[in-house]
Amino acid sequence: MAEEPNRLFRTAADHATGYRRSLPGRPVGVPVDQEALTRAFSGPLSRDPSPPERVLAELLAAAEPGLVASAGPRYFGFVVGGALPAATAADMLTAGWDQLATNAVTSPAAIAAEAAAGAWLKDLLGIPASASTGFVTGCQAANTAGLAAARHRVLAEAGWDVERRGLLGAPPIRVIAGEERHGTIDRSLRLLGFGTDVIEPVPAGPNGAIDIEALRMSLRAASGPAIVCLQAGNVNTGACDRLGEACELVHRHGGWAHVDGAFGLWAAASPATRHLVDGVELADSWACDGHKWLNLPYDSAFAFCARPDVHAAAMSYAAAYLTGSGGAPVGADLTAESSRRARGFAVWAGLRELGRDGVAALVERCCALARRFAQGLASAGFEVVNEVVLNQVLVGFGDDARTERVIAAVQADGTCWAGGTTWRGRRLMRISVSNATTTEADVDLSVAAITRLAA
Ligand SMILES: *Cc1c(COP(=O)(O)O)cnc(C)c1O
Repeated sequence: MAEEPNRLFRTAADHATGYRRSLPGRPVGVPVDQEALTRAFSGPLSRDPSPPERVLAELLAAAEPGLVASAGPRYFGFVVGGALPAATAADMLTAGWDQLATNAVTSPAAIAAEAAAGAWLKDLLGIPASASTGFVTGCQAANTAGLAAARHRVLAEAGWDVERRGLLGAPPIRVIAGEERHGTIDRSLRLLGFGTDVIEPVPAGPNGAIDIEALRMSLRAASGPAIVCLQAGNVNTGACDRLGEACELVHRHGGWAHVDGAFGLWAAASPATRHLVDGVELADSWACDGHKWLNLPYDSAFAFCARPDVHAAAMSYAAAYLTGSGGAPVGADLTAESSRRARGFAVWAGLRELGRDGVAALVERCCALARRFAQGLASAGFEVVNEVVLNQVLVGFGDDARTERVIAAVQADGTCWAGGTTWRGRRLMRISVSNATTTEADVDLSVAAITRLAA
């Protein structure tokens, strides 16, 4: 019996290794028969237990035809990164260790890893060392935590304890956000009880960053506490808001500046792109993903707050959040989860594997490859619609119907995978270069395939 998990875990690791090795050569995300896949997983739950080896074999057989090679070098859909080897191995250990990362009592190691990784993250991203770091599931959760802290603070300043009294009868709060914000901002505002009608949208400039003059006018237009949602990395264009100027404006009006930097905040980690997020340190809260551009396994993201006490006041369920070490908020004091996975191990391992220069090189390489993509497709006669400032490229192939046909053909072909998006009323192909293993050859192969299929 004692030998059994031993063999089982090795088998699982061997399969994961074989799968990873197959990624550069396997078709990327070709269409599948979803119903057949569901059937392969379905059937009545057996009365009797099954031997773990058989369960694993069944899982492998059922899942394999429906796996998307999104961890591979030619998947350019959404903003999907791969998973670094050390980070993936650490994530496997995290499952093996099965730690409860609520606080330093339930897992001292998990909390220590989060403390170290949090300090490295803040340093790389240009966030003050005194900020708190909540290790959450994704940038959706990070936006929710950041905006919960904002809600706490602006209402406390208006003399209202929102954690106790809720929003019914609360003083009105303004929520100002760029019109090209990510959809998760709206969902966070819904979950926090603001609803989406409260949003005062601010127009974006030519490449999708917030128009600073319009923000200035919007802040002037009315008084009252305001939460302002800024962005580093427009999901379509990669454009970053002018954070320094925007944060100064927000603070001059007594507001709270939240930065959604799911992938774009990583611009801070390279001297080549650092200027795109100048002034990032002035914000009050920041949301950033690990599982996108940093190439950590899912699910991994970070909610940072300039005021750890505000962060904990908004998120902790222990009245005085004294569950951690000596009163400093840790672990579940800073996230919406109570019992939680020990996410810090994989973050720590991924950052150690890359090192400071490796993170910078990853950012620079992806940006260079995005420019190569844009140049290749432009020379083939297609329209690159955005200014490629980061790792996102928007391409038009004529009218919407034709662009849709090209996207469908590329997805069915399997050489590479790119999705469609609507930007400023147009259907476009969106290419995101976010994988640490993508090479120039991968880009050239993909440009050739897209060019052939669009012909
Ligand atoms: C991806 C993304 C999000 C949401 O992140 P998840 O990790 O999917 O929760 C939020 N904002 C921006 C700009 C994004 O690109």
